[in-house]
Amino acid sequence: MTIDKKALKGRVLSPGDDGFEQAALPWNRAVRQRVAAVVEAEDAADVAAVVRRAAAAGLRVTTQPSGHGAATGLDGEVLLRTSRMRAVEVRPAERVARVEAGASWGELLAAAAKHGLTGLAGSSPIVSVTGYSLGGGLSWFGRAWGLGGNAVRALEVVDAEGVASRVTADSDPELFWALRGGGGDFAVVTALELELFPAPRLYGGRVMWPAARAAEVMAAFREITATAPEELTVWFTLVQFPPFPEVPEPLRGLAAVVVDATFLGAADAGRVLLRPLESVPGALLDTRDELPVAEVGGICAEPTEPMPALLRGELLTDLGDDAVSALLEAAAEGIAPLATVQVRHLGGALARPRQDAGACGHLAEPYLLSMIGAAPAPEVATAVTARQDTIAAALAAHTSGLKPFTFLADGESAAAAFPADTLARLREIKRRRDPRGILRSNYPVLG
Ligand SMILES: Cc1cc2nc3c(=O)[nH]c(=O)nc-3n(C[C@H](O)[C@H](O)[C@H](O)COP(=O)(O)OP(=O)(O)OC[C@H]3O[C@@H](n4cnc5c(N)ncnc54)[C@H](O)[C@@H]3O)c2cc1C
Repeated sequence: MTIDKKALKGRVLSPGDDGFEQAALPWNRAVRQRVAAVVEAEDAADVAAVVRRAAAAGLRVTTQPSGHGAATGLDGEVLLRTSRMRAVEVRPAERVARVEAGASWGELLAAAAKHGLTGLAGSSPIVSVTGYSLGGGLSWFGRAWGLGGNAVRALEVVDAEGVASRVTADSDPELFWALRGGGGDFAVVTALELELFPAPRLYGGRVMWPAARAAEVMAAFREITATAPEELTVWFTLVQFPPFPEVPEPLRGLAAVVVDATFLGAADAGRVLLRPLESVPGALLDTRDELPVAEVGGICAEPTEPMPALLRGELLTDLGDDAVSALLEAAAEGIAPLATVQVRHLGGALARPRQDAGACGHLAEPYLLSMIGAAPAPEVATAVTARQDTIAAALAAHTSGLKPFTFLADGESAAAAFPADTLARLREIKRRRDPRGILRSNYPVLG
């Protein structure tokens, strides 16, 4: 890669350099990235210089804060890391935060909490605000406040020519629309500004039972979600804990069923709304309590260390008797080699069309199915994928065929995330804004 290392403040690593292999690894170790160079940008000027140099050298640039959403196809490209750009500034009077491209949700929530504010965080505190928001961002609080992408108010970008600008609904409506949900294909974002919300009291946590209780827990989950107010969000998950020594007893090797919940309100009211769970005996664990909103990322205890993860997401059109039977029958013998089979309740503000929406639009489907398995070896990967296919096939009559952009999996296309008219508009914008295809999203809209 013909980048003058002295021309940048950040680190430039080429194959053979000390640290190159490590720097090129994505968080999701199931994805291989044989890139031509890794650049760890320090600021927007570095980003602009990288894009200009790469374009001059005929190389493509993929931006990746950490690679939770990594997908193959980066061979021979420049991998632009934004992980050193992490400044977070909260402007409480405007209820807006400005975050640099590498800042994580955990960092933003902690900074916002100091002002009694919060944002549309997802289940993991370590994913970047930017990668998540560009993909639409499905939050714990989305039923109350909508998709994360629609909370973005401005973006500081470097375009495919290496030119920096600040994009708002007024300054560049087309790019503003495309970046809010269409992914990272249209510009490199160096910072974004997003709306915050007054942080209410938060009640939530996890309840766990042995997997043998799955049918009863599912019945309670359906009862709760049928009438849940928008402040309440509940997820149902079948979990297979690995048999490894580092997993503490009694979880080691356990097949479990869990309900994770958040309620934007007081504990008493939250407990009443979740009362159907009390009818399921034999809970092994119950962490429900009032907690600071900034700690919402701890509820699901998702992995923070890099891992080889295979994901499969499907939006469900219903969770009626037939769908539930199909799911529970497909999982009756256990979910291994999968680690989790999760049903997230959507609806509420996520399902409401809005005039000012970005490309992420809204999600009409009431539930999301998400299946994750670790694949440390190719033969395990084959088994994980086969299990995901079996469960997805059993539920085929209840899936819309669409998936949220941030739940696309390696090997899938961005076309699966958008209605036809949205995809056509995104493709047209991509062709016009980046005719040489210098910038590459993890899920390119032309792919
Ligand atoms: C454990 C776990 C939990 C998750 N929970 C949720 C959840 O609750 N809700 C949800 O919606 N998603 C969730 N996700 C998915 C996550 O939001 C995506 O993986 C997302 O891509 C953010 O990950 P990242 O910050 O590592 O970005 P990366 O994977 O590093 O980047 C993803 C893509 O975003 C684009 N991008 C990122 N930064 C920029 C930039 N500065 N400029 C231009 N393009 C950019 C690029 O196209 C890049 O390839 C979860 C993922 C994991 C692994």
